[in-house]
Amino acid sequence: MRLLTIGAFAHAAGLTPKALRIYDDSGLLPPAAVDPHSGYRYYAPEQLDRARLIAALRRAGMPLAEIRTVCGLPPAVAAEALTAWWRRVSADTAARGRTVALLVGQLTERNTTMSETTFRYAVRCETGAVRDSNEDTAYASGTLLAVADGVRGPGGAAAGAAAVDALRSLEPAGDLLAALGDAVTRADRAVRAQATEADQPASTLTAIARRGTRLALVHVGDTRAYLLRSGELSRLTQDHTYVQTLVDQGRLTPAEAGAHPQRALLARALGAGVDVEADLALRTALPGDRYLLCSDGLSAVVDPAALHDALTGADEPETAVGRLIDLAYAAGAPDNIACVVADLVTT
Ligand code: MN
Repeated sequence: MRLLTIGAFAHAAGLTPKALRIYDDSGLLPPAAVDPHSGYRYYAPEQLDRARLIAALRRAGMPLAEIRTVCGLPPAVAAEALTAWWRRVSADTAARGRTVALLVGQLTERNTTMSETTFRYAVRCETGAVRDSNEDTAYASGTLLAVADGVRGPGGAAAGAAAVDALRSLEPAGDLLAALGDAVTRADRAVRAQATEADQPASTLTAIARRGTRLALVHVGDTRAYLLRSGELSRLTQDHTYVQTLVDQGRLTPAEAGAHPQRALLARALGAGVDVEADLALRTALPGDRYLLCSDGLSAVVDPAALHDALTGADEPETAVGRLIDLAYAAGAPDNIACVVADLVTT
């Protein structure tokens, strides 16, 4: 029988001589012969299959003790043993994954409670220069921002107020988005409860509920939410209006929509008689974020560039809200104006 030196055998098996010495020491793969004088190990070519199997099992991460068991089995039984081992490894890995996910969650929670956040806010709700009643509602607290625009008519103001009230009873714990979804259902019911035979009030609702730096946004109608972050103003809501639907379909340009006589006609509203479909979204807030919630009494008459300038030019939310209201009046204030400006700050 022709024997191979440890170097040649290692090369043929795709292993290192060091690995072969370890397999020898652990009894996995003793050499075919050992020179009694030099102590050099020699291997038979027939040992290559076993060497390759051992190497492959090592690459799969199997401990040496288990490899010894598997290598001693007939191929079919070895295959079963290998499958059983992998099932155990997978279950262990999944269990470790759950432990890690739990730890990551705990560390993240600890991180957000270490620096507490809150909203610093200002609220204004004005009748405007033309209307003789105010059907808008604006509300802010450390954890909730909301605006609502009730339709004109006797029940309109009560409808908007009822919609915002429904959000104020949000549960402080649990799934924020699910809680907000439930609150919308309650708000819709509250608005419908204002209905009489002569009057079926409806209302828009745009609100942000906060837990730590997690924000849940709810939106129905043409009230709006904007975010000023790093000097950039972005709109967080899409109007649910008849003309926006035409813009989405490519049948109107945004400029034509702004001048359309029926631009205020809502495609979706609370209390509109069908099951309400609200837009719900989760967002992550960053300290320094400035949020603007407003009714169309502001956004229909003040263009985004002017909104941006008013929001960036004022340090305090109070000052920003004052400037925005001034802008609406400068544009004639044809409608009620609801306006909330809130900064996310660490305490
Ligand atoms: Mn309005």
